[in-house]
Amino acid sequence: MSSSGKLVAAGLASLLGLACSHAQRGKAETALAKALISDQQESQLGVQVKQQLEQEQHVKYLQDPAVVGFVKGITDKILPLAEKERPGVKWQVHVIDDPKTVNAFATPGGYLYVYSGLLLAADTPAEVAGVLSHEAGHVVARHSARQMVDAMGLEAVAALALGKNPSALSQVVAGAGGKGLMLANSREDETEADEYGARFASGAGYDPRGLITFFQKLEKLEGQQPGFAKFLSDHPPTPDRVSHLEQYIAANHLAGAGGRDPGDLPAVKAKIPKAPASAPPGGGPGS
Ligand SMILES: [Zn+2]
Repeated sequence: MSSSGKLVAAGLASLLGLACSHAQRGKAETALAKALISDQQESQLGVQVKQQLEQEQHVKYLQDPAVVGFVKGITDKILPLAEKERPGVKWQVHVIDDPKTVNAFATPGGYLYVYSGLLLAADTPAEVAGVLSHEAGHVVARHSARQMVDAMGLEAVAALALGKNPSALSQVVAGAGGKGLMLANSREDETEADEYGARFASGAGYDPRGLITFFQKLEKLEGQQPGFAKFLSDHPPTPDRVSHLEQYIAANHLAGAGGRDPGDLPAVKAKIPKAPASAPPGGGPGS
């Protein structure tokens, strides 16, 4: 960043001291972090998280063309809409071979990860589209900036963004890995990602209520089998969250009826290995 950029950053940082409430301060800090962290730094962070997933958590990806093709068929419709809201993201979509984990997540830089267990738990393409649209929303809204401020503090994020502390990036990734992948999103960020998600799903022609029906089903299953759905602990489906989505869809006249029928999904699920891939011998990354 240029020296005038540093001045702006210093000025904004001192303005933050004037923000009165804690919540306002948090918002101002996040806005500043978003202004400071470049797209390139986000991609770098995304690459590091991916390496950590592969090398330390021994994540394996499903390569079956039917499974990958099903997921990409959905993201090919959603991501052009995300691209309009935040141009220049180099999106990557990976299906993690783990049938026991019902989850999906996004990392800075436009990396979307969906576990094969989430595909097995879905009943319609609209549900998968709802989840992936929500995750794309986290990237478009740059929620990782707030996560980084929470994890490192604003000064460290600013130093990182200004290139003063390059090793900070590895520290964030290491810290995130210790807590199990990326850090949790705040409720506000989840709500915002839900709104993006409903818009992207609807814009892509899917029923925007897919995320709602998916939440409701997972809640039921979780009741029978606690610990089943990691997606629920990362995304607490509070009643106000579901009703906010309902209201948002109605208020914005979000239409879309696609993906309400199972379509190709049962055939795709039949191709998904039902036992987790075993870790490579010695715990090192596979070839
Ligand atoms: Zn989320």
